[in-house]
Amino acid sequence: MRPEPLYPLFMPLTNLPGIGPRFAKLFEQLAGPKVSDLCWHLPSSVVDRRYRPRIGEAESGRVATLLVRVREHRPGASKRQPYKVICEDESGRMELIFFHARPDYLERVLPLGKEVVISGRFDFFNGQAQMTHPDHIVKPSEVEQLLRLEPIYPLTAGLPQKTVAKAVRSALEHVPDLPEWLDPAFVMKRNWPSWRDALLQAHNPQVSGDIEPGSRARQRLAYDELLANQLALLIVRKAARRTAGRSLVGDGSLRKAVTRALPFSLTGSQVQAVAEIERDLADASRMLRLLQGDVGSGKTAVALLAMLIAVEAGQQAALMAPTEILARQHYDTLRPLIEGLGIELVLLTGKDKAKERRQTLESLETGHAAVAVGTHALFQEGVNFHKLALVVIDEQHRFGVHQRLMLTGKGKDVDVLVMTATPIPRTLMLTAYGDMDTSRLLDKPPGRKPIDTRTLDIERLPEIVDGLRRAVEGGAQAYWVCPLVEESETSDLAAADQRYEGLRKYFGDRVGLIHGRMKGAEKDSVMAEFKAGSLAVLVATTVIEVGVDVPKATVMVIEHAERFGLSQLHQLRGRVGRSGDRSVCLLLYQKPLGETARRRLEIMRETEDGFRISEEDLRLRGAGEVLGTRQSGMPSFRVADLAQHDELLAVARDDAKLIIENDGWIDSVRGTALRTLLYLFERDAAVRYIRSG
Ligand code: ADP
Ligand code: MG
Repeated sequence: MRPEPLYPLFMPLTNLPGIGPRFAKLFEQLAGPKVSDLCWHLPSSVVDRRYRPRIGEAESGRVATLLVRVREHRPGASKRQPYKVICEDESGRMELIFFHARPDYLERVLPLGKEVVISGRFDFFNGQAQMTHPDHIVKPSEVEQLLRLEPIYPLTAGLPQKTVAKAVRSALEHVPDLPEWLDPAFVMKRNWPSWRDALLQAHNPQVSGDIEPGSRARQRLAYDELLANQLALLIVRKAARRTAGRSLVGDGSLRKAVTRALPFSLTGSQVQAVAEIERDLADASRMLRLLQGDVGSGKTAVALLAMLIAVEAGQQAALMAPTEILARQHYDTLRPLIEGLGIELVLLTGKDKAKERRQTLESLETGHAAVAVGTHALFQEGVNFHKLALVVIDEQHRFGVHQRLMLTGKGKDVDVLVMTATPIPRTLMLTAYGDMDTSRLLDKPPGRKPIDTRTLDIERLPEIVDGLRRAVEGGAQAYWVCPLVEESETSDLAAADQRYEGLRKYFGDRVGLIHGRMKGAEKDSVMAEFKAGSLAVLVATTVIEVGVDVPKATVMVIEHAERFGLSQLHQLRGRVGRSGDRSVCLLLYQKPLGETARRRLEIMRETEDGFRISEEDLRLRGAGEVLGTRQSGMPSFRVADLAQHDELLAVARDDAKLIIENDGWIDSVRGTALRTLLYLFERDAAVRYIRSG
């Protein structure tokens, strides 16, 4: 049950004055539906309104707050002309300029002959002192409230700054005083405010540094959030561990046989990953291990060997893929190998025919089938395993936490191996999984040569095309990727179309075009031609499918590479370098290059290591964008910024560990406060595990 002091924070926003259903919708888009969501909506900048000159001495281009007397209203002669209000003080005169004015409103807030305080950007236009659309117009008695650093909030269309600021102010009135959940000595050492004071300060900056991630208020709030995150992960994990694990030890016979049947020998990384898994499985506690490796690094072979350990131990194993197509692909790859061992393998997706499905279910229930491959259909109701011991989940980031927990309901003490091709920066890992054990496939399967990556000014296009022509004459195949020009697919397509036409002059029928607007069948047929080699150059927008695999393609040209993110560049480059032939990647840029873009291209030249690239990406872009946080099941944070607060994350992890290791914490005063913290950050699920686990 949510602690009572938090109730006001979890009220719907419509409880606040001035927020009706129409605004509520916009606020929900902007921040969320609850009062607490607005409290977390922190200012992104400030406007200094403390400059208070007289008209005659005001500097042009500066935000100024002035006390003036209204002298004259001059409505525009036509609709298009601005409405002017002439004001003065003892030092001079100025004009207030309003476009699309509402005269009745202006007459009310700027009454003739009266003194008013205006604040906004002061300017000279043709020698005339002016202020266009003052940000604030208030009575002289209210000037003190104006003379400060005004917090500026991120907005959404339809919600003006003032409306948001006012709503946040009324939300903050509901912020309760909560018991301290941090160690007082730690808070003192860091010189942090209490949670409530930190929140109020974050919304009321005194100096411009107060809105920086490094400010004391923001650090405190970020720390609270990270601690809630780490604590929740540890609690869930501890609950999972409490269900006694089991030790799985195989005799190695199946592994030996399948290793002999594989057309290659394992890489060092693969051998090491399998050894790590073997150790985890032999251990009596449950395994929760992540296997990370770029696309093509050979995760499937590792999964196969892991599953065979379970089978050797007399148990069942299951491999879950995110889509039916991928499940089927795994099934097709694994079947000859597994059936060659005399083991039954079944495929279970949501689309199986009734009769097959019945047979499959029976095989799983009797234990006849030792290995199952499928989609999440594997873990739906009505599917019963005889003795499931190991679950391998492919492409983890597409599954939510929910599925991960639900899974383990199918076998009491199931070990879990999670595989992902998206290199996840360490900090993100920590917040998504806690201290999850990780194996990484760092070395690529042998025979693949490094990709020669070069950055070139687009001005050298003729030279580049010439080089490409020579390469094509020598039998090479190339991708030519055109970027997102604007946020519109049409202009995106136009650029690709233009490049396609341009290249036809050189390559004639041997150049093809593929883009997102094409129908599936059209795309397939262009791809097939490229695969077959009748097309030598494939011009593509960024929508080319991820699964594209044409090992013979050895040239990747990326136009306007400066507009792509690092991960995207890495993914695109990954389409070449798949055979024993040398590959090149040409990153064409257009000057001038911004600092971030320059750095990105430099990193691409320096490394092919997906892990390093993802870390750099996080540093350059911030966590939310790296994985598209929301879709990926990764946690998203309200205040904490993983690129800025990674030091705090490390401390929070240690703090959470200490708290959890000290079993007495649940009933302590701090324990009660910590539970409030978990509810505050909506980690309710974790709280439920505290006692039930
Ligand atoms: P991913 O990690 O993307 O799932 P896969 O497991 O699909 O990668 O492997 C990619 C390709 O590399 C497959 O064709 C696979 O047979 C091959 N492969 C895997 N391991 C090795 C190896 N050690 N040596 C050579 N080829 C390998
Ligand atoms: Mg794979």
